[in-house]
Amino acid sequence: MQVSEIFSSIQGEGQYVGYRQIFLRLAGCNLSCDYCDEQTDGQLMSIPEVMVQINALSALYHHSISITGGEPLLQVNELLHLIPELSLPVYLETNATLPAHLREIMDTVDIFSLDYKPGYEAEFQACLELVRDQDTQVKFILMHNQPITLVKQAAETVRLVNKDIPFIIQPVTPHRTIKHMPNTDEILAAYNVVKSKLNDVRVIPQTHKMMHIR
Ligand code: SF4
Repeated sequence: MQVSEIFSSIQGEGQYVGYRQIFLRLAGCNLSCDYCDEQTDGQLMSIPEVMVQINALSALYHHSISITGGEPLLQVNELLHLIPELSLPVYLETNATLPAHLREIMDTVDIFSLDYKPGYEAEFQACLELVRDQDTQVKFILMHNQPITLVKQAAETVRLVNKDIPFIIQPVTPHRTIKHMPNTDEILAAYNVVKSKLNDVRVIPQTHKMMHIR
């Protein structure tokens, strides 16, 4: 599989923020988001080679293993071989644009973190319907000067599926061409729009970036 890095750290995003995890970051993505800081070619590793590194980290306590990217579902066949080897709960981060791949792997995953990507509503909804009754969260990256209609559309799609799914508004971290975080008014406006449609709404920034840890 194409692997960017394997390491131990603290989950910095979403409702599992603060838990220690092993991170398996896979290379490659089918999207190209402006704010992305995870686009690397990675290196080709066999499943046994990946397991050697994961096992070396497993001596210390970890809440779960975060399989992230890139877009991990691009390597669904490899993951179907790897995941049965793992002893930790599996936390999958996906851009929620590949529902057919998610269907293949969902029975092996314990926690789902689905990003909402504008322009992929149908794929996002299809992914969400697959895992609507699982331990699932949605993350929405909130940008400065972003039309409020985007977060409203995301919340409406989640409401159609299950209005109890936690919806995490994640203010963007400035990076490369992104110069500004959303301001207070923008964050509160987004919160209010989502809360009018869903039951569980939180604003959580990328805390690992604040701590300067990976
Ligand atoms: S979906 Fe994620 S990994 Fe892919 S380009 Fe966007 S931010 Fe980067």
